[in-house]
Amino acid sequence: MAKLHSRRLVDFRMGSKLSSAYLSQTVRLWRFLPWIMLGSITWWLGPIQTLAAQALVAAYPDHIRAVTDQAVIWQDGEVMPLDSGHRPTSLASVLDRPNLKDQLALVYPKGRLLTSPARNVDPGRIRYEPFFKKMYGATEDAVRQQLVAVSWLPGSSGQKLLLTRINAVDQRVAMLVQELSLLPDSMQRVVAHPAGSFHWRTIAGTNRMSAHSFGIAIDIDMAYSDYWRWHADKEEAPLAYRNRIPHEVVEMFEKHGFIWGGKWYHYDTMHFEFRPELLTPQ
Ligand SMILES: [Zn+2]
Repeated sequence: MAKLHSRRLVDFRMGSKLSSAYLSQTVRLWRFLPWIMLGSITWWLGPIQTLAAQALVAAYPDHIRAVTDQAVIWQDGEVMPLDSGHRPTSLASVLDRPNLKDQLALVYPKGRLLTSPARNVDPGRIRYEPFFKKMYGATEDAVRQQLVAVSWLPGSSGQKLLLTRINAVDQRVAMLVQELSLLPDSMQRVVAHPAGSFHWRTIAGTNRMSAHSFGIAIDIDMAYSDYWRWHADKEEAPLAYRNRIPHEVVEMFEKHGFIWGGKWYHYDTMHFEFRPELLTPQ
């Protein structure tokens, strides 16, 4: 190692082609370091990921029996590996082909957001699709069989939202609605007319299934919302954080197991999604 290091030092001093190649390779690797860390260097993340994976058992006891260092064991006996072997090289490739452990790697900041999200930190936005298909249904028909029409706020002209009964999401939303209805009008107006819930579809600009496909997501009023794609078209684009949703509303959703897209660097402030594993104390 020392020999290698001194060789590199000599090359650097001499300004040789070898050293510039080494430097440019280092710069290239450095740029991808967050994704290499996320997907490949697991030895130091291991204990953290095991803890995060254990949260799956607490969050979904009807579905998940246990978690080992290697896999999630479902109640029906299916063993779902935490690492499927894919090695992502960019944010887009983590999003497109994550391992189950990538889904668990980022900690969601519960409660009032004190600073805007750090660059490319989108806790909950990385989803291992087979996990959601197994939990909520692998086809539109299968998901639809579990949907319930839940009455939204009294002031929303009788609007009903289609949500899954799996994990009692429908009942949790009914409780959430009661609490939201107690908010002052100035806050309630941002949720009074939601843009939608169930919709079997891919995420705009991608081939990935949206969380809306599984009946676990609610979009509130677009008129008060901000979405990163309205200001940029690439995952890698630098973004200026925007939000108009009061934290009191966000915290009510979180209390009932919903994470908020406003806590992502790639912000989507109308989006709430049932992901209780990210809200249990770790
Ligand atoms: Zn949404």
